[in-house]
Amino acid sequence: MLRSNFLTCQFEILRRISKRFISSREKFTPLGRLSVCESDQVLSLDYGNRLMYFPILWLRDNCQCSECFNPPTHSRIIDWYNFNVNTKLETIVWNDLQKKMFIKWHDDHESVFELNWLQKRDFSPKSQENHLLENYRPVRKAWTKNDFSSIFHSFEFNDVINTDEGLKSWLKSLATFGVARITNAPKDEQVCRQIANRVGFIKRTHYGEEFIVKHKADTTNVAYLSTELQLHTDLPYYEYKPGVNLLHCLEQSQSSGGQNLLTDGLSICNMMRQKYSEHYKILKTIPVDWTDIGSENGVKFHKIYRAPMFVVDERDELIRLNHSIPQRGSHFTIPLSLVKPWYEALDVFVKLIRTEAAEFKTQPGDILTFDNIRLIHGRTAYNDTGNNVRHLVGSYLDWDEIYSRLRVLSNE
Ligand SMILES: [Zn+2]
Repeated sequence: MLRSNFLTCQFEILRRISKRFISSREKFTPLGRLSVCESDQVLSLDYGNRLMYFPILWLRDNCQCSECFNPPTHSRIIDWYNFNVNTKLETIVWNDLQKKMFIKWHDDHESVFELNWLQKRDFSPKSQENHLLENYRPVRKAWTKNDFSSIFHSFEFNDVINTDEGLKSWLKSLATFGVARITNAPKDEQVCRQIANRVGFIKRTHYGEEFIVKHKADTTNVAYLSTELQLHTDLPYYEYKPGVNLLHCLEQSQSSGGQNLLTDGLSICNMMRQKYSEHYKILKTIPVDWTDIGSENGVKFHKIYRAPMFVVDERDELIRLNHSIPQRGSHFTIPLSLVKPWYEALDVFVKLIRTEAAEFKTQPGDILTFDNIRLIHGRTAYNDTGNNVRHLVGSYLDWDEIYSRLRVLSNE
């Protein structure tokens, strides 16, 4: 490095540090903007009134040099078989003019990190929280039956199809509340496909890519009957069950029935955790054999997936809800002593989701979109007449494609 650079960069430092810090036993030892705590293997950077933290081992793992990282694929290509988890710093330099950190490691490998890159990856809790809020997924907001009219937002079909802002607004609302409506769609059976293509692509199941919902007396699926469709989630017997339902209403029943029913499973999960904790524990731990057996277009299928009704993460937050009376198999592979307690817990759940169900009726031109991982949906009974036959077209989308599209739209 040139002498003049040393003079102009007042915070620049260049020191051999590892031996000194091990022996000093101090916590963070300052080196200008940088401080290093060798015992905790952490480095801090003080820049713009902000103290950022970076694990030393993580910095080595994320070296941005061409041997370790490939920019076109945004991918780490470091040879991890020969990686040393006890790697140590040899020298470290902060250059204030270039806004870069230069590291030389014990094995003579060299790394350079830019301020902007470091700021986005700061390990301090507030920065990590902000990163997740902005880049991972919109925060889900639980709602009850009474909240429904204020959280159920409508988006114009033309805006969703023709503008990125319209697409983003709809997807954000869907991700936040688990439900949103697209209005004024043309009366065309291809509309769900058009919407799905704006996001990514249709999720195909053994019922195909698009399904027509009309009353069929000799049906293979209870969804095609006109009697009340009990509250349920679709396809719980899929390990990778579809994330979102798109239900395009082309013709609605003029009878008083045919009301849509929707309940927020996230809210039910929270309620049961608080008020019915014993039942809640049973529903989140006992696996159920979700099953579908039949044939579609001459192709036989036999699906089984074992999972509890509430699937929760390490923070006890709902990550998937499974519920379907017709598609709960009669095989129940659990200890005898748990059977009655499980049915009692199911009973509490079924009563609660019906009491908490929002009721409304989609109109021709509406596309009802809702989260099949989180919400529970159903429909009241209805009657067709000669000149009024309820007609819906449905399709599925996956959350992976939705979250991906949201991130791409947010970064443009
Ligand atoms: Zn490298």
